[in-house]
Amino acid sequence: MKPDYLIVGSGLSALVFGALMANSGKSVQILEAHEHPGGFGHTFTMAKKYTFNAQLHYVWDCGEGQTVNRVLKKLGLDQDVTFERYNPDGFDHMRMPGYGLDIPSQPEELIRRLSALFPEYSDRIRQFVREVEKTGVGLKILAPPVKPTELLKNASEVFCAVQYLNSTLQDVFDKFQLPQAAQTLLALQWPDFLLPPNQLSFYAWVLLFRGYQAGAFYPTQHFEYVINSFVKVIESHGGQVLLNHEITNFRVTDKTVTGVEAMDLTTHQTHEFTGNTVICNIDPKQAAKMIGEEKFSSKLRRQLNYDYSASNFMAYCVVKDIDLRDYGFGKWNLFHTEHEDLNVAFAQMYVHNDFSNPSFAMTTPTLLTQARRDCPEDCQIVEFLTVANYDYFKQLREHDRKTYNQKKQEILDSILDVVEKYYVPNFRQHLVFHITGSPTTNERFCWCPQGNSYGSSLTPHNMGLGRLNHETSLNNFYFCNASSGYPGFAPTIWTGALLYQRLSGDVILGNS
Ligand SMILES: Cc1cc2nc3c(=O)[nH]c(=O)nc-3n(C[C@H](O)[C@H](O)[C@H](O)COP(=O)(O)OP(=O)(O)OC[C@H]3O[C@@H](n4cnc5c(N)ncnc54)[C@H](O)[C@@H]3O)c2cc1C
Repeated sequence: MKPDYLIVGSGLSALVFGALMANSGKSVQILEAHEHPGGFGHTFTMAKKYTFNAQLHYVWDCGEGQTVNRVLKKLGLDQDVTFERYNPDGFDHMRMPGYGLDIPSQPEELIRRLSALFPEYSDRIRQFVREVEKTGVGLKILAPPVKPTELLKNASEVFCAVQYLNSTLQDVFDKFQLPQAAQTLLALQWPDFLLPPNQLSFYAWVLLFRGYQAGAFYPTQHFEYVINSFVKVIESHGGQVLLNHEITNFRVTDKTVTGVEAMDLTTHQTHEFTGNTVICNIDPKQAAKMIGEEKFSSKLRRQLNYDYSASNFMAYCVVKDIDLRDYGFGKWNLFHTEHEDLNVAFAQMYVHNDFSNPSFAMTTPTLLTQARRDCPEDCQIVEFLTVANYDYFKQLREHDRKTYNQKKQEILDSILDVVEKYYVPNFRQHLVFHITGSPTTNERFCWCPQGNSYGSSLTPHNMGLGRLNHETSLNNFYFCNASSGYPGFAPTIWTGALLYQRLSGDVILGNS
């Protein structure tokens, strides 16, 4: 039977849209190429006992009344799908030779800590942090659905935000003339964007930085449980999530999308699927290529002309017979850079493929929740993340597998040298399992073009007024993906919920 909503891709925004629609009585069918649902948020198990989430580390907007909580409440999941809060006194530990800063939730405390490190710059630091606050309030007012009364009530904050429409984080650092080391400590969560300050949209940085200040979270029962809970809502309402089905083409008649062709990757047979409305969770640009770009309006073609975000390197590790809490780890992430200037550090790794002075994120999911589903009792999971160049890795993987594997090992070794030098002297002795992922791994397991990590790159150009949204200019066809909304756990949940709201008329997102 033809479903009300045929959804292609099972990333977070698709699952949320599908779960909300199924919950409201609509029929839903999801087609997913991978063997696991969740896209970047999927979970996989290695050696039959170690469980890793592909990409998600920590998330925001999960507190009472915030976006994720509103959606879970609507689905009756809020008592079941719960979150553990990171340490509000220091959820991100920023480290570089000679400096350390634990980012606190309170902006005033951030000013105090930074001013203690750079006393002669305390006025500028205060002005910068206050500007970030003001911009953040303005951006919230400007986020859809926009309420005109709120615009007027908060005119000063809205004006403050608007002036930074085209600014990078570096532009704003320069405006307030912050010292280099302070800039680096503030921007050290750059792996959350995979862009350095001189390319990163100031808006993107403010949204994420303040989002985590308001509460950084990890799911009590790991990310797999969150994904499975959305799937369960869909299935319990008669909907279907068909895995191992790769969409190879869209069916379009007179500017109306009626369905797709998909290959069952287990049998290699092609089937046709139809739906009253087709929701596209796969990369919009890729979908447009399959459909034929000429079928879209000129406005849409301009919006689809985005560049992809950089790709990444991931190392999924297991350590045994060691408690990382004894070495200063806990309910926080570690971000480390060897080079003081993140713009230079990024270029060394991304442009020159030189990881001899690595800058990276280190997360320890086992320490964030009591639920020990990710590994045996005597083990802990550790994950490392940094940037990596797609073209470089693609070429190595296709033409020189040995060097490809060596390069991945070289990056991990360079990171582990830093870990052993500064944090856990005997780390390698406890390492019982590791597996590394490159940009081509992303492409193979997350089906993301060029191994991109966050959809369209988070530059001011892509974050500006011409940003793509769910409208496609074709009939019965909507985008629902990080690139047609915003990347991240909470932002893609928001993206799915906003489309549900738009198509159902059922308002669940407020503006608070
Ligand atoms: C390294 C990394 C770290 C991250 N860390 C965090 C973090 O700590 N916190 C956070 O909030 N966010 C994080 N994110 C971002 C977050 O994971 C993503 O923004 C979000 O999960 C994207 O969801 P989406 O709905 O856009 O769909 P996607 O996850 O992009 O899913 C799209 C789905 O479509 C499927 N698909 C594609 N093509 C086809 C096809 N032809 N046929 C069938 N199916 C297809 C894919 O297999 C996939 O399942 C991270 C991302 C990366 C890469």
